[in-house]
Amino acid sequence: MAIKIETHRDVMRRTGKIMATAAGLTAVMSFAMGLLVFGSDFSAPITVGQMQLFGLLAGGSISVALSGAMSYRAGRLMLELAEMRRELAQISQTDQLTGLLNRRGFDAEAAAALDQAQDSGASAAVLMCDIDHFKSINDRYGHEIGDKVLVEIADVLRQFAIRHEALVARYGGEEFATVLTGLSHDEAALCAEEIRRDCAARTILDDETLLPVTISIGFTVKSRDLDLADLMRTADHALYIAKRSGRDRVEHARDAALISRLPASA
Ligand code: GH3
Ligand code: MG
Ligand code: MG
Repeated sequence: MAIKIETHRDVMRRTGKIMATAAGLTAVMSFAMGLLVFGSDFSAPITVGQMQLFGLLAGGSISVALSGAMSYRAGRLMLELAEMRRELAQISQTDQLTGLLNRRGFDAEAAAALDQAQDSGASAAVLMCDIDHFKSINDRYGHEIGDKVLVEIADVLRQFAIRHEALVARYGGEEFATVLTGLSHDEAALCAEEIRRDCAARTILDDETLLPVTISIGFTVKSRDLDLADLMRTADHALYIAKRSGRDRVEHARDAALISRLPASA
């Protein structure tokens, strides 16, 4: 059971308990050693040799017992601290609403995935997904239904991540990011399309309200010089083009670059 130490009084109480236990242990062990060395006849004379033996046995055994108990206690505390640190790290990297990685968690894990892909010569794809007209959903149905939509879309991404061993995260308000490694451009496009289709097929229910939700996706694939910030920027640009081109669609950064060079009226 974890030890709860929050206030100065808790520290004093614990220290007092430990000192009382140590004093009790010392008294019991001294008495036991006394019985062992001097015997149970309390009026019998004591020799110098017995006194030396008593000092040696009592001092040695008490210090071994106390330092053993203290080391065990310190070890337990260290284990609890390590566990607490692990829990805190997990909390700080998890999005509370959806249970997916949050941006902090994504940045850490995506950077590690890209390093690994770079070392093994694999390509990396980054997909930026954004719910369409999410503000209107909030305005029309309320924040609670908005939250429900986020949870549903997160679930689509979670299922996708399981199927494709992908990294998925809630990157911001109604934006989700995905990293996939070892895919060609065409395979990444199929994956993006799969997410878009699954989201569109998911109907968010408010008892009597059917609410079809669509998302737009921008993605990029690179096989060299894998830099997370660079990939995110490029995927985000493709996402912007997907929005501008009508939403509920997938846009590849390579094609998006061409589109963005066209005049606005094209
Ligand atoms: P677009 O199709 O261009 O993406 O339009 P949009 O309305 O989806 O985008 P916009 O950026 O205008 O609005 C995003 C909204 O997301 C605004 C914000 O209130 C809402 N939002 C962000 N985080 C949350 C959340 O945790 N819960 C809910 N319910 N809404 C959120
Ligand atoms: Mg957005
Ligand atoms: Mg949006």
